[in-house]
Amino acid sequence: MSRFLSKRYHNLEPYAPGEQPKGRYIKLNANETSCPPSPAVLKALHSARMNGLGRYTDPSSRELKRALANHYEVKTDEIFVGNGCDEILGFIYLTFFEGARVCFPDITYNFYQTLAQTFSVDYKEIPLKADFTVNAKAFAETDRHIVLPNPNAPTGYVLPVSTIEKIVAAHPERLVVIDEAYVDFGNESCVPLVHKYDNLIVIHTMSKSRNLAGAHIGYCFANAALIRDLESMKGSFNPFNLNDINLAIGTAAVNDTEYLKKSVEAVIAARDYATAELRKMDFYVLESHANFIFVSHPWLSAPEYQAELRRYGILTRYYKDPERIRNFLRITIGTMEEMQAVIAATSEILLRAAA
Ligand SMILES: *Cc1c(COP(=O)(O)O)cnc(C)c1O
Repeated sequence: MSRFLSKRYHNLEPYAPGEQPKGRYIKLNANETSCPPSPAVLKALHSARMNGLGRYTDPSSRELKRALANHYEVKTDEIFVGNGCDEILGFIYLTFFEGARVCFPDITYNFYQTLAQTFSVDYKEIPLKADFTVNAKAFAETDRHIVLPNPNAPTGYVLPVSTIEKIVAAHPERLVVIDEAYVDFGNESCVPLVHKYDNLIVIHTMSKSRNLAGAHIGYCFANAALIRDLESMKGSFNPFNLNDINLAIGTAAVNDTEYLKKSVEAVIAARDYATAELRKMDFYVLESHANFIFVSHPWLSAPEYQAELRRYGILTRYYKDPERIRNFLRITIGTMEEMQAVIAATSEILLRAAA
């Protein structure tokens, strides 16, 4: 720590992302994909437009907002865009949670807690139920602002939109932030609810279903007044938060709905395959609604399983806290070939461990 670090940040605890090693790995530790983005994205990257990079980008990101408005059937003034879901979450904390009290599940995306610590926001973790589902009743009853991923990570469980609506409607004075990072993998979205409720923000990312984690593009939907607040904060902090390259490729990705559909179908097929095969080998696999599975085995411990998979060049994500997920491993769903490699490795690992 230098002697210049502001006092309020002396206890910063940066988020620990999945490792990004170089080399030939089957990388299933960060819920990304090894598939390329849409060909339309690659075309946009190589277009003559890139000669214009000498100019600042459009700070209102109009072309991307128009594409999103069209795809999601909302108005452009109900959309905010940013440098990934993470930046949008950061803007939300900064803009709305100063001096406020928030809550999120105890087992969830760790960045919600990181941000609460960064911005000194009073937070409470609401425990998942014993079966790892979100305690919807507790969220409906709390008087705190809410940050809730749906589907949740790393469990992969989802709440129906009708339940989300009950939570949103229960206390209009609370802000409810629904993180739909994984919604595209076969789930219904609550985006249409933003027309009905002025206390709801729904966040999406292109990092998962649109194969663009390396670009890091996020967007959110909310009532126009909330969006105006976020835009004011952005204009006062980082007016050009989405660069022109991302504006071009993000727009191309949104417009290629066929490619999204194909990518999602491939993930779901590989997810179904891996789930069924692991269950045949006695794994307990939570029913996933996302692009990862959360698995545990009766006698092969999760850390041991992770270390063994690593010897096959397969990377996964393990969380030792809290205690009740200590025997679970999160495996991102890659291509069908990658999942076949996981299954083949797992069957060898089990044979060897049993011997
Ligand atoms: C991956 C993930 C994010 C991060 O999205 P980015 O757009 O890459 O910042 C946000 N929320 C959840 C629940 C995630 O799993």
